[in-house]
Amino acid sequence: MSNVEQEDVETFRQRARSFIRNNLQPISSDALVFPLRNVRNDDEELTAVAREREVQRMLFDAGLAGICFPRKYGGQELTPAHQRALNEEFDGYEYPSRLQAPTLSPCAAVLLDFGSEEQKLRHIPAILNGEEIWMQFLSEPSGGSDVAGAQMSAIRDGDEWVLNGSKIWTTGAWWSDWGLCLTRTNWDVPKHRGLSVFILPIHQPGLEVHRIEMLNGSKEFCQEFLTDVRVPDSDRIGGVDDGWTVGTRWMFHERMLTNSPLVTMPTGAGRTSVGATFVHAVAQEAGRASEPHIRDYIGETLMLDIVERELQRRIGDGLATGTMADQAAAVGRLFSGVAATRIRTIAFEIAGGAGAAWTDDDGELAFSGSDFLMRQVSCIGGGTTEMARNVISERVLGMPRERTLDKDIPYRDVPRSASSRT
Ligand SMILES: Cc1cc2nc3c(=O)[nH]c(=O)nc-3n(C[C@H](O)[C@H](O)[C@H](O)COP(=O)(O)OP(=O)(O)OC[C@H]3O[C@@H](n4cnc5c(N)ncnc54)[C@H](O)[C@@H]3O)c2cc1C
Repeated sequence: MSNVEQEDVETFRQRARSFIRNNLQPISSDALVFPLRNVRNDDEELTAVAREREVQRMLFDAGLAGICFPRKYGGQELTPAHQRALNEEFDGYEYPSRLQAPTLSPCAAVLLDFGSEEQKLRHIPAILNGEEIWMQFLSEPSGGSDVAGAQMSAIRDGDEWVLNGSKIWTTGAWWSDWGLCLTRTNWDVPKHRGLSVFILPIHQPGLEVHRIEMLNGSKEFCQEFLTDVRVPDSDRIGGVDDGWTVGTRWMFHERMLTNSPLVTMPTGAGRTSVGATFVHAVAQEAGRASEPHIRDYIGETLMLDIVERELQRRIGDGLATGTMADQAAAVGRLFSGVAATRIRTIAFEIAGGAGAAWTDDDGELAFSGSDFLMRQVSCIGGGTTEMARNVISERVLGMPRERTLDKDIPYRDVPRSASSRT
């Protein structure tokens, strides 16, 4: 056993604390802003990405990256309890947020589950040291909820595959390196049986990344167009036409994101921009923090924060110990979406007129307005809350399955819009 393996959680915590305080910059909670707020221009975004790669490298060199990844791939092979301690120590300090999701989970998690030894040795250390940032190429213009209905085509040509089609809603693909891509390799079998998964560099001939500008000015969402992109068969993940096996686990990792032991996330992050701290700041800026019903609102957001933290912890423990089925991750995903939407709505109500019409120097008050307009994002990204409800009812509670008309017929014969036929 090495020293790292023997390290108990408290010793690890002290080591992490000392490294973080001596090497990383303290930040105010509002620096970890909701990623789709339009707060940075392209140069600032690229500078932030470069700094996060640097921080990830520093963490890697200090033995503080990949806490629950096997040591042979550059990880520390420690426990979820060590990861939790690290998350707590990161509170109030910069951390490489863009390198967590989807790079570490679901992408690296899927590589761990299904990648060949060569694929893992090639990519996981590069992910853990900040060299490679990954994106998931899952959603398509024809829809993202019906993952098994992917239409990006991959046709075999000797030792290579030729990919054609489009993926969409990849946040930050323009500054990322690799994609995990779900494709259709067989159109003559029912939809779940003709899928395969590949990995591919994002910046290469035949792969165009177009940025999508949203109403709030953010251009972080991307759409990719693949035209005759050649991928070696050695970059296939899982079996040919067996992509649904990979995809099911991929969805699981995506749903359990907030309590994945593979992801570093300061305990307050993810909640800081929309949680009780933010709502309290809005109430103070609006001069309403002492009004009784506003205090009720602040109490409600605090309660949602606490319930979410404990719920995610319980689900995380249940999944780690096998007392809960993988599908229970959908419960956490549903709660986080619903709670974030509720908190943004409360902040908007407290902000009053400043939330509806703001000026640049209105601070948190202004963000409450733009956050309210974007509130549904937390119910859509990572799979919608409607789909999470389906999973909970069918797979956790054992209720009858939703009726499907395309389950047993070749995907080629499933009615689709003319523009998406192959
Ligand atoms: C912040 C953010 C980040 C994202 N990042 C990525 C990314 O990195 N990579 C990526 O591939 N995608 C990404 N997405 C896309 C996301 O996964 C999809 O938007 C989502 O899966 C829904 O797909 P859709 O938008 O095509 O809606 P659709 O699938 O067209 O669904 C439309 C509506 O119908 C509902 N619906 C559909 N089918 C059912 C059903 N069977 N039962 C009940 N309701 C149903 C849906 O819940 C939704 O409300 C991101 C989205 C957001 C908001």
